[in-house]
Amino acid sequence: MKRISVFCGSSPGARAEYAAVARQLGQEIARRNYCLVYGGGSVGLMGELAISTLAAGGEVIGVIPQSLFDLEVAFTNLTELRVVATMHERKAVMENISDGFIALPGGYGTFEEIFEVLTWAQLKIHPKPCGFLNIYGYFDLLLKFLDHTAQERFIGCEHRQMILVDENPAGLLDQLNAYTPPAVDKAAWAKRESSLGGG
Ligand code: AMP
Repeated sequence: MKRISVFCGSSPGARAEYAAVARQLGQEIARRNYCLVYGGGSVGLMGELAISTLAAGGEVIGVIPQSLFDLEVAFTNLTELRVVATMHERKAVMENISDGFIALPGGYGTFEEIFEVLTWAQLKIHPKPCGFLNIYGYFDLLLKFLDHTAQERFIGCEHRQMILVDENPAGLLDQLNAYTPPAVDKAAWAKRESSLGGG
């Protein structure tokens, strides 16, 4: 792996642990000579991550839509800042140039971004690994709910297992490196499930 996209909160959250572990991830990305790709923001966990990666000597590419750039929330001292036209273009660029994806604690923006790359992974649009850095158990309820979706057969077991989870940045990056994509694609799985009639 060379480039890792990280999606995370534009706010710092309610606990100091979130920023502390975000900084550890930035340091680990730099230590491994990976390049951080992220949304280009200067605020919240996004800012913490970018600053810690740069401070540890790592490379950082920010991809930000013009509208957010105009609001002056962009981090302008990055290795590279790509200003794109729209949010959709930003996500397409981030997916395209990255070898793996990580979600840190965050809100709607973070969920939307990680679930899009997961959706593309299960459709085999890309074969790249996706992981959650589960700081202070932030994702526990979501992961439980995803177990429920698999039990209720809206997500196949193999696709549920695509999600890599670790509390520790180095552990999660190791898991991303060892990842093998599932054999089944979602479209084929859904077709088979439909032929069984549901219920
Ligand atoms: P959220 O989790 O709702 O805070 O949104 C964070 C995600 O949405 C990030 O990964 C960014 O790609 C994008 N985003 C939201 N707010 C900002 C901001 N102020 N500056 C840059 N990107 C943002």
